[in-house]
Amino acid sequence: MTDCIFCKIVAGEIPARIVFEDDAVLAFEDLNPQAPTHVLVIPKKHIATLNDLSPEDAPVIGAMTRAAAAIARERGFAEDGYRTVMNCNQGGGQTVYHIHMHVLAGRALSWPPG
Ligand code: 5GP
Ligand code: ZN
Repeated sequence: MTDCIFCKIVAGEIPARIVFEDDAVLAFEDLNPQAPTHVLVIPKKHIATLNDLSPEDAPVIGAMTRAAAAIARERGFAEDGYRTVMNCNQGGGQTVYHIHMHVLAGRALSWPPG
């Protein structure tokens, strides 16, 4: 997708502070962090929303989840805890239409979210 911010980050056309990368997944620091740790984990493949997932995307969703857990472990949050969030469409608060998993940690996280 030529007009997708996150595809441009995958392509190296927009800079990002990358914290993890493999064949399927990229993780980078959120530009506007909502917690001391706020990382976004994305598939390298463009998928607009969770509603657009197909059965063959199951491995990349698994890879995103494992990357989130690895980042939490590396940063020492795995035991204390952290939060992963995937917003879907306007009502869910999605603003970038390339799926991404927020990984939030380092402060008390209340529930329910706003
Ligand atoms: P959403 O609201 O779609 O769930 O989350 C989008 C996230 O992407 C927001 O937390 C926002 O701060 C982040 N974001 C938007 N544009 C950029 C960008 O160009 N670079 C980075 N690193 N994060 C971005
Ligand atoms: Zn994209």
